[in-house]
Amino acid sequence: MMIPYKHEPFTDFTIEGNRKAYQEGLELVDSYLGQDYPLIIGGKRVMTDKKLASTNPSNKEEVIGNVSQSSRDLAEEAMNVAKKTFTTWRKVKPEFRADVLFKAAAIIRRRKFEFSALLTREAGKPWNEADADVAEGIDFMEYYARQMLKLKDGMPVESRPGEYNRFDYVPLGVGVVISPWNFAFAIMAGTTVAALVTGNTVLLKPASTTPVVAYKFIEVLEEAGMPSGVVNYIPGSGSEIGDYLVDHPSTRFVSFTGSREVGTRIFERAAKVHEGQIWLKRVIAEMGGKDTIVVDNEADLELAAQSIVKSAFGFSGQKCSACSRAIIHEDVYDEVVNRVEEITKSFSWGDPAERDNLAGPVIDQAAYDKIMNYIEIGKREGRLVAGGTGDDTKGYFVAPTVFADVDPNARISQEEIFGPVVALSKASSFDEAIRFANDTDYGLTGAVITKNRHHIEKAREDFHVGNLYFNRGCTGAIVGYQPFGGFNMSGTDSKAGGPDYLQLHMQGKTTSEML
Ligand code: NAP
Repeated sequence: MMIPYKHEPFTDFTIEGNRKAYQEGLELVDSYLGQDYPLIIGGKRVMTDKKLASTNPSNKEEVIGNVSQSSRDLAEEAMNVAKKTFTTWRKVKPEFRADVLFKAAAIIRRRKFEFSALLTREAGKPWNEADADVAEGIDFMEYYARQMLKLKDGMPVESRPGEYNRFDYVPLGVGVVISPWNFAFAIMAGTTVAALVTGNTVLLKPASTTPVVAYKFIEVLEEAGMPSGVVNYIPGSGSEIGDYLVDHPSTRFVSFTGSREVGTRIFERAAKVHEGQIWLKRVIAEMGGKDTIVVDNEADLELAAQSIVKSAFGFSGQKCSACSRAIIHEDVYDEVVNRVEEITKSFSWGDPAERDNLAGPVIDQAAYDKIMNYIEIGKREGRLVAGGTGDDTKGYFVAPTVFADVDPNARISQEEIFGPVVALSKASSFDEAIRFANDTDYGLTGAVITKNRHHIEKAREDFHVGNLYFNRGCTGAIVGYQPFGGFNMSGTDSKAGGPDYLQLHMQGKTTSEML
């Protein structure tokens, strides 16, 4: 009998054995740095002349791997393979598909420290964040496999005498999965396996900054028994093959996670029906956030300050769920700002390969430049109380940065910065705080720190975000416990790791037989 789903525990790095295992993971990863990686199309390895180096964001000279780049011709070849494989994969029993996920989860669990260490090197993730990223990927496999087993017989419908009605879920077809670098394992793996376990075939285009971890994951799927051609690995630039795949008449759905800019572009392009296309494409788009922590005047202020700092600066604020603005009741404003300043100044950040650092570099030069530009804007829009500096000589390091006295309509309080920058603003009442909190284009996560039960209920009704937390930070959703996804410009309202996520990759088919 299958054991009930339970999320993967996080590694306790106070235990000597775990610290040693992480170091060994880093050594193992270092032993294969700089290798060349091919595309994987129909199980075949295709090395191309055009390669892109994936580098370590904390040490730009260090090459993680040189990754073959797909051309449009190769993307077309992969599409043809995925179309052909769909004709067989869609008939493979859901139990088989689920078993591949269970096996892949087991393999990753055995190689957890290696995968985490690879995220430290390729994405600049500190130990605890890398460990959580890999755990989340395992959770997606364990959870979606179980969900598929629940959905495999469809949903009950009524039948009249002499009639036998059924309602089953059937897969959609070829899906294009486009993943981001910030959860280079969890989101890449989660979106891929959700599409696969439901019987679709996939063209996976990972983010150009983190393609090696995706390659390693495809190898794991192969080892777990995924037949060739079900998932095809085609890294390449968004502009070179991204539009091509999204526009392709054979693409049945696109599962995208990334920025609002690219997400809205995909949504718009996918709406166009191209010659030869006989369906309306489905788009699952998980996009950005401008996530707020509201601090009430009746609140645990230490908890408030700790939650703001942890949610703002963990993994250098490079989470769609990161706290990038806090709206604080005027009665407690000064106290909270002072404490946020103190905690920020003692927040450990730097080389992510050092165990105690909770934040490392930002992902690349473009991110660094963008964040430093926002810091300059912030100096005009608010009062700098911590950080404000950066250093991109060796890697792309930005100090955890706090601006106080920011107008909630200021740019740094409205636009997604995607770095370690938080804007603190004052509200004259709880109602005003919720109004300010809602006043962005996004609606991904939020948190309220309060001891007032009425205010909890008010926020539950009126704070318009997909993931709302009370008396804790606004990051760290767990698969199967806190289904994740946002409102408004944060996406298409889907909930990754939730009970209705897999259905987005299928369509309901009704059959009715006269007896
Ligand atoms: P991004 O720049 O939008 O890139 C995401 C993916 O889209 C990458 O694989 C990228 O490829 C690809 N892409 C770029 N241009 C494309 C095009 N024209 N057509 C198709 N694909 C294209 O985002 P990112 O910087 O990787 O990730 C950070 C963003 O993701 C933030 O805004 C964050 O809030 C959001 N995010 C949201 C969630 C959520 O669940 N809501 C979760 C994680 C991250 P290249 O790398 O080759 O450019």
